[in-house]
Amino acid sequence: MFTKKLELDDFMNGLARRNPNEPEFHQAVREVAESVIPYINHHQKYIDARILERMTEPDRIIIFRVCWEDDDGHIRVNRGYRVQFNNAIGPYKGGLRFTSNLSLDTLKFLGFEQTFKNSLTTLPLGSAKGGADFNPKGKSDREVMRFCQSFMTELHKHIGAHTDVPAGDIGVGAREISYMFGQYKRLQNEFRSVLTGKELAYGGSLIRKEATGYGTVFFTREMLKAHQKELEGKRCIVSGSGNVALYTAQKVMQLGATVIAMSDSGGSFLIPSGMTQEHLNHLIDLKEKQRGRISEFAEHFDCDYYPDKKVWDFPCDIAFACATQNELELNDAKELVKNGCIALAEGANMPTTMEASHYLREAGILFAPAKAANAGGVAVSGLEMSQNSMRLSWPLEELEKRLEDIMFKIHQQSKRYGQQSDNTIDYIRGANIAGFTKVADAMLSYGFV
Ligand code: NAP
Repeated sequence: MFTKKLELDDFMNGLARRNPNEPEFHQAVREVAESVIPYINHHQKYIDARILERMTEPDRIIIFRVCWEDDDGHIRVNRGYRVQFNNAIGPYKGGLRFTSNLSLDTLKFLGFEQTFKNSLTTLPLGSAKGGADFNPKGKSDREVMRFCQSFMTELHKHIGAHTDVPAGDIGVGAREISYMFGQYKRLQNEFRSVLTGKELAYGGSLIRKEATGYGTVFFTREMLKAHQKELEGKRCIVSGSGNVALYTAQKVMQLGATVIAMSDSGGSFLIPSGMTQEHLNHLIDLKEKQRGRISEFAEHFDCDYYPDKKVWDFPCDIAFACATQNELELNDAKELVKNGCIALAEGANMPTTMEASHYLREAGILFAPAKAANAGGVAVSGLEMSQNSMRLSWPLEELEKRLEDIMFKIHQQSKRYGQQSDNTIDYIRGANIAGFTKVADAMLSYGFV
């Protein structure tokens, strides 16, 4: 049997028909399909097995009601989700996101991307994503606790240490993970590695909190090295000031580069001489403990603050996109190029629009795609699961070394598959194909499932 070759437009039209009104999911699939379809068309086994159609259909989607009581005694109702995307190479694994405007579209894009990212980590991890249209901002600790307990009361039926192991994402940090783990333990009467990103006291891993940001910087350093450039001495901008952004900034500074600007959804600050250790420590405390705003940071240090402005206009050598999806658009990409930026690293998931991504690559900017660059977080989550299974904890130096090794290997794989005939490296293509082959081959081994 020889099924005919895949055409990108036919494939995308079919996907859009089956998944109407899901632009983010379409965007994420198109980005992968653009690079893997030419590869698939050279490998008849993937065409015959309709592997890309199968990989773009989640294994299952669970949607549920989350009912909880606020501090005023009012009943609140939210919607919870878990998209279990693909478990061909390991138990489902991926974060939970709590934001007010969360949609199934966003979770399908994130779950799909996670398939490739988790494959790249070299660890046995399947893919999933979940969350709720609940915004923890402005809620009391008690309200967050009641919400998390109610959310886990349903979710616990669908997850497990060998089934599906969620972690944090936007709006879900150590506090939320702790409330959810406490409720899981209560419901199941089991102490198992069912969530990662836990606190150290009850099975968390050192460096998990820092892992996504650190990994992004390690990948960027490798990418620069492969092009006879170095990170040291470079002026960097970092969008966002959440988990990924803060630890990206920390590692950038540790490796001898400077961070001149950061942001949140309210605006950006600029410190032309570069942030000091005092600035960074204050910002980490402000964001992680006081849940404060960038405007307060700027006021505290009397530095330049630009309300409602993104960081992309500030001239820099390297840009780290660490806030959210589609935050870097075509006009932002043009500013980066105009100002002499040499590299963009995606710490967030799909922060660059398709148009901006094409523009940056055509302009010769080194582009570290999210699937490869931000895989350090899920990689250390995988190491957290390993430590929990063995009931021991590895020391900090060992974990950082393992993270560096993993990011080195992810760079190698992306470089190998991304090598172009003109000797340049297309890291997007490389990461997509490297991530694809492992999962696709596992799926082929299972037969038609
Ligand atoms: P987080 O801690 O909630 O931080 C998100 C940050 O982005 C906040 O500072 C937020 O500001 C800011 N932000 C949101 N929308 C923005 C906008 N339009 N412009 C500028 N800043 C904006 O989330 P996170 O865990 O760092 O995740 C960030 C990204 O990384 C997401 O795409 C996530 O999926 C991805 N990621 C996370 C991990 C992980 O381990 N955490 C791993 C892989 C990928 P406000 O506070 O004002 O909203």
